[in-house]
Amino acid sequence: MTEIRDTVILGSGCAGLTAAIYTGRAGLNPLVLEGHEPGGQLSITTLVENFPGWPEGIQGPELIDNMKKQAGRFGATFELGHLNRVELGTHPIKLHTTAGEVHTRTLIVASGASARWLGLPSEQALIGHGVSSCATCDGFFFRGKEIAVVGGGDSAMEEALFLTRFASKVTLLHRRETFRASKIMLDRAMAHPNIELRTNTAVVEVLGVEEKDVKGVLLKDTKTGAHPELAISGLFLGIGHEPNAKMFSGQMDLDEDGYIRTTGNVFTTHDGAIIPGVFACGDVQDRRYRQAITAAGSGCMAALEVEKYLEERGH
Ligand code: NAP
Repeated sequence: MTEIRDTVILGSGCAGLTAAIYTGRAGLNPLVLEGHEPGGQLSITTLVENFPGWPEGIQGPELIDNMKKQAGRFGATFELGHLNRVELGTHPIKLHTTAGEVHTRTLIVASGASARWLGLPSEQALIGHGVSSCATCDGFFFRGKEIAVVGGGDSAMEEALFLTRFASKVTLLHRRETFRASKIMLDRAMAHPNIELRTNTAVVEVLGVEEKDVKGVLLKDTKTGAHPELAISGLFLGIGHEPNAKMFSGQMDLDEDGYIRTTGNVFTTHDGAIIPGVFACGDVQDRRYRQAITAAGSGCMAALEVEKYLEERGH
């Protein structure tokens, strides 16, 4: 017979590992299924300067590694692999993972959101070396420098406006003529003296792979076919995020962009009714803050709800 676990955590970013520390300390022997991006978004960031307790900052991968060690110290176990299919309506909950079938009384979904990337090899090679998808995390490193933001939605406008606090000039590169961004955000960006908007402009290549440092971008003017270069020190992607929640579609309420809808911070629902024993935390249910510290906070909340849930049922 398959062992029934007290709790399984999907995802090993900041939310999942915080949930693992708390449920581990509660003696629940959590199993963390690490997912397809072990360590989550922090594992691809460089210096994290806004996580309380690290006055000089800490490298994202080191922070994640520390959290993992901390969770391990309290009995969390880790399994490389991800979820193929889930049966949320059964008790125990059944997870069909790449590492086999797992049965659990409770489930914490901390599968995060993945930043959308352009998918260029040069872009991927320079992530953390001048290419970033997080202005709040990395903007500070571009004080007095010229940078570019890609995208035409509210995220891109927000990033461009935020980055003017540091950068001497921000060029916003958008592939089409018209913008998805709300009028108010677009107006703000257009009115800013340090932001230049370039439409009908696609990024073809990020320059600086050999130097391991962004030197510029090769562009394509989609109207004329011209290939101008733009010298910049940093490239920020503001083309949206994809919540990793597709596997719950039909069994859990998701919003119009696929984020898990939660009530009372971390309770999941199906057709408006709470799903017993299933909680969600971190970026997979947070489209607004998306910070390491808020993800950690909601991971803690989910873990405390798991404890309460199991205690009320005599486990
Ligand atoms: P979005 O509205 O989907 O916009 C994504 C932008 O990125 C679009 O302009 C899109 O271009 C571009 N894009 C996508 N893939 C691309 C690619 N491969 N290459 C080049 N460009 C690409 O996403 P978002 O801006 O993240 O916003 C998501 C939601 O959150 C929206 O509802 C938004 O209003 C909300 N939000 C609100 C705020 C705020 O109010 N403060 C801030 C952030 C986000 P096309 O237009 O050509 O498709």
